[in-house]
Amino acid sequence: MLKLGEMVLKGLNRNTFENALLKNIHRRLAPLGNFDVRMAQSTVYVSPLDEDADFETAVERAAKIFGVITFSRACAVEKSMEAILPAAVEYLRPQLEEARTFKVETKRADKKFPLQSPEISAEVGACLLEAYPHLTVNVHQPDVTVRVEIRDFGAYLHGEPEQGAGGIPVGTGGKAAVLISGGIDSPVAAWMMAKRGVELTPIHFASPPYTSERAEEKVKDLLRRVGEYAGRMFLITVPFAHVQEEMLRRCPEDYFTLIMRRFMMRIASRVAELEGCGALITGESLGQVASQTMKAIAATDAAADLPVLRPLIGMDKSEIVSLSRKIGTYDISIQPYEDCCTVFTPKHPRTRPELADVEKAEQELDVEALVEECVAGRKVTKILPGDAE
Ligand code: ATP
Ligand code: MG
Repeated sequence: MLKLGEMVLKGLNRNTFENALLKNIHRRLAPLGNFDVRMAQSTVYVSPLDEDADFETAVERAAKIFGVITFSRACAVEKSMEAILPAAVEYLRPQLEEARTFKVETKRADKKFPLQSPEISAEVGACLLEAYPHLTVNVHQPDVTVRVEIRDFGAYLHGEPEQGAGGIPVGTGGKAAVLISGGIDSPVAAWMMAKRGVELTPIHFASPPYTSERAEEKVKDLLRRVGEYAGRMFLITVPFAHVQEEMLRRCPEDYFTLIMRRFMMRIASRVAELEGCGALITGESLGQVASQTMKAIAATDAAADLPVLRPLIGMDKSEIVSLSRKIGTYDISIQPYEDCCTVFTPKHPRTRPELADVEKAEQELDVEALVEECVAGRKVTKILPGDAE
């Protein structure tokens, strides 16, 4: 049983949200076997329909679907006390044998059920006390809470719900292009926006021969991890070396980082629009490095034609790192493959650049031709979630 998060508050859009969630659940579970997936009363019921359905993996995947706030493994039985009582005794046996105290909590969504919630709880409680004489009831701080839900399709028994991924379903928040490097930050930024329902189109700037094939593989590995939450994606790889060589030849070194960032914004805006994306996403965090001061961000932004979303802007590095561990990208991010920018990092980057000065430095370049060349050279790779095989 997957319980919906804040999407239950969405009023008229509720149908859209629920349909997107059901579609995402179908997509992730279909390869695991035959499951019945249905929605009622702000809960999605997922039931394996045959022996071959891989239920354990389905639970793991369900934990990564945005839009689900909590979920429980549950035992479904017929809506009668004759069915509920023996199931209550058996289903949570391991927990109840370990416990010293328990309580029963009943929710009766089906008001036609003949007993009221407190009566159901009392009967189930009495039955458990008889089956497990070592237990006593503690309604304030029980070791185990046995939950009984009487719903439209049946009665459900379960223990403690587990934390879901939260957020809102991917696909309900529009589409955005995320600028993805091999670093720690941008995969986290991607994950955060997917959590807010955004469908992702990743864009990566690669600079062969200065960067290796392995650096691109690293980006794909990162996206496979993010994809366990965000779903499948189409990575767009843009060749960036020519821009950098031109810059190296014609521009003052202290503006390199900023010039590269501004090219990324221009190219990404162009590609994003071709892909139907409404915004760009980056992994910048204010003050983290020289190119992420307020002035530098303003100069970077000025080159973008779309809104730039920066979900990490107010986060500390340690907070970003702990999220990346949770998502499972950290260990990949710290592998030592060079990024396109690190190859051309100036020794003394400007921390307070004036836009006019950067623009002047760029006048030595044929910006439009370089942008077009990069856009034309892009490659597309389909990325499946890492747990999809
Ligand atoms: P990250 O950990 O994401 O690499 P960072 O702290 O190293 O970020 P920068 O390298 O300055 O910071 O990059 C800032 C942002 O620019 C990144 O978060 C990412 O969104 C984008 N970016 C940087 N390099 C690339 C690249 N090679 N391809 C695509 N986007 C990039
Ligand atoms: Mg980086």
